Amino acid sequence: MSLCPCGSTLPYTACCGRWHAGPQKLQAPDAEALMRSRYTAYVLGLGEYLRDTWHPSTRPAEAVETDAAVRWLGLEVKRHVAGDADHATVEFVARSKLAGRAFRLHETSRFVREAGRWFYLDGEVR
Ligand SMILES: [Zn+2]
Repeated sequence: MSLCPCGSTLPYTACCGRWHAGPQKLQAPDAEALMRSRYTAYVLGLGEYLRDTWHPSTRPAEAVETDAAVRWLGLEVKRHVAGDADHATVEFVARSKLAGRAFRLHETSRFVREAGRWFYLDGEVR
């Protein structure tokens, strides 16, 4: 069984895979779990999941494209701060490589929970 790309050291099916498909689809229990599952969705090219977990107020009008040429190297979650029961921020660093060049995305993302489901709202690049 392969390890989850989000770096949790859990098997994919016991980690982000639970929120991508199956009976618990879209039921990530907190903002960090949702953030990890969105990173893994980028790795696996799950554009529909990225769109479905994007808050309707900030979601792109068109389909979310994932770039197969990008090689994702890893995710580091630096901080998960719960604001109140329905708001949280997650600070992370995601590393990738494209055409031999290394990229490092350091972002603080905002998440909101509505009707029991967490959504990605927006992010501030650090
Ligand atoms: Zn995972």
